[in-house]
Formats: sequence, C-alpha cells, structure tokens
Amino acid sequence: MTIERRKTKTAKVGPLRLGSGRPVVIQSMTKVFTTDIDACLEQVRRLAAAGCALVRIAVPTRKDTQAFARIAEQAPVPLIADIHFSPERAVEAIEAGAAKIRLNPGNIRDRKDILRIIDCAAAHNIAIRIGVNEASIRDLSGRDVPPARRVTLMRKEMAGYIRLFEKAGFDNLVLSAKSADTRRTIAVNRALAEAFDYPIHIGLTHAGLPEDAAIPSAVAVGTLLAEGIGDTVRVSAAGDPVEEVRIAQAVLKPLGLYASEEPELIVCPTCGRCQIDVVALARRVRELLQTIRRPIRVAVMGCVVNGPGEAADADIAVCAAKGKGFLYREGRKIAVVPEAQLIDALRNEINRLINPSGQ
Ligand code: SF4
Repeated sequence: MTIERRKTKTAKVGPLRLGSGRPVVIQSMTKVFTTDIDACLEQVRRLAAAGCALVRIAVPTRKDTQAFARIAEQAPVPLIADIHFSPERAVEAIEAGAAKIRLNPGNIRDRKDILRIIDCAAAHNIAIRIGVNEASIRDLSGRDVPPARRVTLMRKEMAGYIRLFEKAGFDNLVLSAKSADTRRTIAVNRALAEAFDYPIHIGLTHAGLPEDAAIPSAVAVGTLLAEGIGDTVRVSAAGDPVEEVRIAQAVLKPLGLYASEEPELIVCPTCGRCQIDVVALARRVRELLQTIRRPIRVAVMGCVVNGPGEAADADIAVCAAKGKGFLYREGRKIAVVPEAQLIDALRNEINRLINPSGQ
C-alpha cells in the first residue's frame, strides 16, 4: 500500500524540488558556531553522508553570514539560513548563497523589511520557509494564548503571512508551524494542509534528548506522513545532528517513504515457543548485513510454528528449531542447517542472492 501524498505547489531549493508528491526530504541543523567554518563544514558533510539533503545553519551575526558564504561554497548539499529578528542577516545570507531562508515574519518588526527580504529572495531565486512557532503566538494584547486556541491562531497567522508574500508576487514557499506538543503539532499541520497548497516542513520542536525525542517525533511526524502531509522533515533532538537524521530515516522507512540501499533485518519478538537464542543470532546477522548495500530483507525467526508464515515476505529467512535452523529463500524452504553452521549458511545464501552469477 502506497501513501498518497498531498498535491502542492513546488518549492525550488537549489537543485532540490520540494512538494507535489516528491520524495520527503530529511533536513537537520548544525550545532557548532557558524564562525567555526571547519567544524561547521564537517557537520554538514557528516549530515550529507548520513542522508540529510538540506542543512540549516544559524546566522545570528554579520560574522556568521560571512562564514556562511564560505561554508556554502564547499557544502555538498543546499543550505538554509536560519533568521531571527534581523532583516540584515536575511539579506546577507541570501547574498551569501543560501538556497532557502527560514524566517518567522512575526519577529521582523517592520513590514518594509519583510518586503525587502522577499525582493532579495526573488532576485536570487531562492525559497523562503515561513516558520510560525507556538511559543511566539500571542493574542492582540500581547498575552499568552491558551493551548486550545493556539492551533487556530497559528493557522490564522500563517494565512496573513502567505497573503503578504503572495501580494508581493512571491510563492517559492515552504510552510512550517512548530510546537513541542505532539497533538498540537498534528493538529496545526492538518490545518495548514487543509488551508494552503504549499509544501510543509514538519517536526516537533524541542523534542528532547535523542532517546526521548524519537518516539514523540515518530508519533507526530509518522501520523502526518501517513496522511500524506509533510514534504520535508526534521527531528529536533539535542546532541549530534546525525542522530536526528537516523531517527527521521527510522520514521520514514516503515511508511515506505525512504528509499534505502540498506538491508532490512526482521527479528521475531520471541516467545515461549522460541527454540534458539534469537537475539544473539540476530546480532550476528546484523553484523553480516552491515557491509551490504542492497535493499534485501532478512528475517530471523524463533520457531517453525509461526516463523515461516511471518517470514514469507523476506528474501532470506531462518526459522529455528531445536539445534538447527530451516533456511528459506523467498518463502520457500531450501535447507536444514545445524545451529553451529547457521551464520555461514546465511552468509552464503545472502551472497548468492546479491550476486547470482557468482562473480
Ligand atoms: S516466530 Fe515463533 S518464537 Fe518467534 S514470536 Fe513467533 S511464535 Fe514465538
């Protein structure tokens, strides 16, 4: 079953195209000082190698936009400049080679400055992500807004910004409305998807340490993606940004939204029928698969009662019995192997699968 992605306008971000059902793009953000050009570039390169297609970089000062220019010259992926409060930084970052800027128009005081940024982005043919944050939502009197009204106000605020951009003739837009609350993240993005036809960037903001961020992010982002909502994704987690990319990939994969060359390992959860140390065997199989770059599916199952049925979708499966294992290829039993020889037998069968000519 394929997820039907939402039809949207297309945003052009350097060589990337976002929206209109194109593959979901994973992005992240550097977490070192931008002025430390080598360290920043190193993070950008590690992120790109991990599968991150867009990297955002903070540019709070003029020195940062100057460093941004040097980083953009060497970065292997398009860069987004993260702008807060300063129209000067936005213009500098665009001129420094940003493929997109992330802007919360709500924290640029003067409308003329927003129009100046829009003109500059149009002249350089770059995209703008309009970011609305739950934390910055206030009612007209400047007071905080109760949670129940925030989704409505964020959608309304976004509508006002979109009108402003469209009136200025600019539509190379991506939208985002971020909250640290899982349910409001889902609700506000559903509201954006219903109201506007621009690509949407999704993610929980301030999700926590990686081990705490993964599940709430998977719930919020996974729910939206399963509904076809979301064109770029960031999992916000404290620490190494590469962890953000790994979590995002882990969310996209089970939804069939991440084209990976990595093998997939399926392991039964084990139960009272288990005939073998499945966890130990699965760990050895994982090691075996680590060097393989082919999207094959290998299953390790603990018994021959339910194992074969559960492993039928795998390219190769082993179903354990007492002191031995039954080897399956594409659901068909091909061998019975003593337990001590299972890893070798699996290795041989995997090699035969990925290299059928034996060359
Ligand atoms: S494959 Fe067998 S051992 Fe594993 S969970 Fe299923 S029934 Fe239990």
